[in-house]
Order: sequence, then structure tokens, then C-alpha cells
Amino acid sequence: MALVKKNILKVTPYAAGKPIEETRRELGLKHVIKLASNENPLGPSPRALAAMRACLSGVNRYPDSQGYYLRKALAQYHSVACGQVLLGNGSDEIIDILFKTFFEPGDNVVTSETTFLEYAIIASVYGAEVRTAPLRNFTYDLNALAKKIDSRTKLVFIANPNNPTGTYVARKELERCLGRIPARVAVVLDEAYDAFIDVKDYPASLRYIAGRNVILLKTFSKVYGLAGVRVGYALAREQLIGYMERCRQPFNVNLVAQAGACAALKDREFLRKTRSVVLAGRSFFYSLFERMGIAYVPSQANFVLFDAGRDGVTVFKKLLSHGVIVRDMQQYGLRTFLRVTVGTKRENEMFARALEKVLS
Ligand code: PMP
Repeated sequence: MALVKKNILKVTPYAAGKPIEETRRELGLKHVIKLASNENPLGPSPRALAAMRACLSGVNRYPDSQGYYLRKALAQYHSVACGQVLLGNGSDEIIDILFKTFFEPGDNVVTSETTFLEYAIIASVYGAEVRTAPLRNFTYDLNALAKKIDSRTKLVFIANPNNPTGTYVARKELERCLGRIPARVAVVLDEAYDAFIDVKDYPASLRYIAGRNVILLKTFSKVYGLAGVRVGYALAREQLIGYMERCRQPFNVNLVAQAGACAALKDREFLRKTRSVVLAGRSFFYSLFERMGIAYVPSQANFVLFDAGRDGVTVFKKLLSHGVIVRDMQQYGLRTFLRVTVGTKRENEMFARALEKVLS
């Protein structure tokens, strides 16, 4: 008899962005910048930092299992009931909770090709079949996606904007697609990057959660600058959140994270600043790529996917030797592509200089 479950043998672990310290150590470099994991380059919100420092002397106690203050603040922020908010140790954990709550052997999940890899990785841990629709023009093709749904589909994942392409689906297309998906299927709209949207036709997705099996995923890891303390949340109708609550660990969001997230949510000035740095950085990258004759995918997120026109892993390694960590797209099968996260102005300029050297 095998020791581990058969499907675990087939799981490909998530490959995280290369850490700064590891790069310094391995390459003996002093100055290294990381533009690889779509983090906030401005640091955490100062208000969050102060709140986290202030709560440290209380970490001998367990955190509030109900996350009372954070859920209340989020409920107010989104004008929903507290019972419609589920907190997670990052939205990654909520993806896991979704499988714990909804998946039964024989069920499948539907998503797109070239999307956030955690959907397929967690699905494989649970032994779920993942049915993927191809992208169209680097964008989720919701028609193709709807066609992949069958009688055993339990969950549909739509990352909007998508990672790693940065593209988004507009309100009309999304609503048409939601209309085609059977009511018994849970549709997950992963909006990790919604703070960086700069278009008018992005769906106001909160209006889909009432009376339907639509679950929104949000995170404090990007615009709020709290990736390191791990907080994400889901919004859905109370009954669904109630089922998901049964499947989470009692202290899944730690005390420091709860305090940091509460304070970050109120720091509107920091959010405004982050958004303006990201929007300016995207434009800077577009101009750089255009000047260099490099094809890129216009993005609504805090990163840009571009085609280096040669082996992406080699370009990644060369950029690394200049102290710049980006992400090659080998795992996604995009051999000549790389994804660069918007950094500070100085970081973006350092990336530009390194790229020009590497590709010249
Ligand atoms: N969804 C998407 C689309 C992402 O890109 C990420 C982060 N890479 C996550 C969810 C997970 O974010 P976190 O677990 O940090 O909240």
C-alpha cells in the first residue's frame, strides 16, 4: 500500500519568486532589487506598521479567532454584513478552504490556461481534475471557459485582473458568462489586483454575490503592502461564508496581521500613493518596451508581461547577475516571456538599464 495519496505524487509545488537575500548570497551582489512577486515597493503602510509594532507585546495570547475588528472594518468598507466576510492566511489559504468546503471526489474545477498557478496546484492536492480554457489575446476567454463546465464542475476560478498577463474581463462579458454558468457551480472572482484598475468597464462584482454562488477573493498582499504577514479575505453570501468558516482553522489569521490589516484599510493616503506609483510605473515600462521594440501585454495590475524574443530563463539569469529579480514564465509555457513587477521609480530605472544591457 502506498504511503502517500496517489495524487500527491503528481503535485508540482508552487515556485515562489527568488528572495533578495538568497540572490545576494549566491551572486555576491550588494544591491539587489526584487520585481518578481507583485509586492508593494513602498513597504507596508506606515499606519499598519505602527499598529503591528504596538500589538507585538500581546503575542503571548492567541489572536481573536473571529477576527472581530477586521471583519467589522471590511464589512463596513464593502457595505456587507460581517457574516459575509471570511478571513484567510492570505487569499492562498482561502483557495484551499474553497476546496475543503466544496470539493468531493469526482468533481472538477474550471479555469483558464496561463492563470494563477495556485488554483491548479491546490486542485491537484485534492485530486481534482482541472479543465482549462485557452486564453484569447492573453485574456480569459469566458465563452471558451463556460463551455468547459460540465455536470461535475464544482468551482470556477476567474482571476480578474489575471496573473501573469495583467489583462481583465469587462462587466458585460463577465455578466454574460455568469448567466451561462449553472447556479449550483461556485464562481470565484479573484480580485487580488483590483486596486490597480484604470478602466471604466471593470465589473462592480459585489453586486453579484447576493443570491448567487459567487465568491470574491481579495488580499492585503498587494496595494496594502502586507504580503509578509498574510491576510486575504472572501466576500460571499452568508450561507456560503458559514460553510467555509467550518473548514478554516480557528486561529488562521495571526494577531499581528489582524492589527496591520485594520490599520492599512484606513490608510487611504498610502493606497493613493501606491496606486499612483504603480500607474506611473506601468507607463514607464510601456515606453521602455516600445523604445526597445519589445512586445508587451497592457496591464491592469502592478506587473507587466513582456516578450524578450529569446529564451526567458536565460534573460532571467542575466538580469539576476545585474541584481534584478524578475519572473521567467517557463512554468506557464511562455518560453520567451518574463513578468516584471512595478517597483519604485529608481527600481524601474535600474530594471531598464539592466534590460538594455542584457538584450543589447
Ligand atoms: N490571487 C492572485 C491572482 C495572485 O496573483 C495572488 C498572489 N500572487 C494571490 C491570489 C495570493 O495572494 P495572497 O495569498 O498573498 O493573498
